[in-house]
Amino acid sequence: MTRLAAVAAGQVAAAVEGESGRDGGDGWEAVELAIRTAMLELGGSLLGRLLAADPGHRGPRIDCGAGHQAEFIAYRDKTLHTVLGPVALRRAWYHCAVCGHGHAPRDEELGVAGTSLTPGLRRMIDRAGAAAPFAPAVGLLSDLAGVDVNAKAVQRAAEVDGRAAAAVITARAEAIRARTLVPLPPSPMPDILYVAIDGTGVPMTATETAGRAGKTARPDGQGSTLPDDGRARTREVKLACLFTQTELNDDGYPVRDPDSSSYLASFAPAHEFGPLVAAEARRRGGDHVRQLVVLGDGAVWIWKLAGKLLPEATQIVDIYHAREHLHDLAATLAFIVTDPAQWLRERLDELDARDIEAIIAAATAPEYPLVGVKAVDRDKALTYFRTNTVRRRYAHYRKHGMFIGSGNVEAGCKAVIGQRLKLSGRHWTTPGATGILTLRCQQASGPWDHLWTRPHNQIPDTHLAPCRT
Ligand SMILES: [Zn+2]
Repeated sequence: MTRLAAVAAGQVAAAVEGESGRDGGDGWEAVELAIRTAMLELGGSLLGRLLAADPGHRGPRIDCGAGHQAEFIAYRDKTLHTVLGPVALRRAWYHCAVCGHGHAPRDEELGVAGTSLTPGLRRMIDRAGAAAPFAPAVGLLSDLAGVDVNAKAVQRAAEVDGRAAAAVITARAEAIRARTLVPLPPSPMPDILYVAIDGTGVPMTATETAGRAGKTARPDGQGSTLPDDGRARTREVKLACLFTQTELNDDGYPVRDPDSSSYLASFAPAHEFGPLVAAEARRRGGDHVRQLVVLGDGAVWIWKLAGKLLPEATQIVDIYHAREHLHDLAATLAFIVTDPAQWLRERLDELDARDIEAIIAAATAPEYPLVGVKAVDRDKALTYFRTNTVRRRYAHYRKHGMFIGSGNVEAGCKAVIGQRLKLSGRHWTTPGATGILTLRCQQASGPWDHLWTRPHNQIPDTHLAPCRT
């Protein structure tokens, strides 16, 4: 190291004095990277020495874990991949003759049993693998952290850790629902907690979608086109975004509290996703806030879920979805209405004034006697308005300074899911996508995630600080 330090020091001097023959920027960069390499090597050798202090000998025999005695065999070497580069670990190796398995107690103590990646490096890999496709993630890790791993290792670690985090979320949700874990009320107490729910399709591999029926309906019940062979190419991910609102801006519009969003995403069916959402709402103070609101599009499953698991919540159908439906309705009637643009404007005003009856009356007026396909299309569009009346008191909600659009969630959907899971040419397996989705939700949840999930199934008690068990 002394030699490396001397070389680095020489390069610094050369760069500062402009002797490198290149411009200062290039010189500096080379020096910085050389010093980082030297620091990593030094750190790696320090870590190696620390690890060598305990070679993991726990006597001639240890419990194998299945009630037998495993015999000490020898000291064996293993290369650990760490944040500081590869580090050799020599540790005691035991063998159970009954089970036929080997054990290294030191591996278990260090959290590297069955893996060569240290927890610190996994954390970095998880971050990179969630942020970018696996091959570019390798480049990020190399450029930003000086760490060399291959794409397969990034994929395997990130997907496994994401699934472990998903299992932790599920277990925690069960504990909250069973009241064995009671989240403390948030402080300061927000005025309104929104639970915005949406669904979106993620492209899957052919084997994942084989045998699964083609997607025949959008979540809002409107028809969509089938792929040529009628087989599904996507699977629906359900996403919930929870956020709070305490203030209005100067124009009287609601403002989302900064850093207040937490995300949940899952391929699970609604009856499994619902309890996760309900537990998250309780964790976020849903039992204590003045107003709990569920925001969603017209999808039936969302309102079933809300009615069953969050019965105290005010239900608001996203106004942008409602407007889209109104545009569809206007397009259906455009061929027969005298001034379609004017007709649409009047209906949009009625929607804002929550006068759904006026919309229905205008679309079914006797001067528009539709038959056949056109009549079917119109009635389908009207079903949406007929079934969601109570959830669309927009003028009322706006007067009370509440969010009436789930634009925030859709932006979240695009950022959390689309930007990583829906890249062109990429197809997922369910376990792989579940892992990456979970990691991305955790990362997007910012300050909320540290209470909630840790990879490797280990949750030190200190991380439960805001909850009492
Ligand atoms: Zn055994």
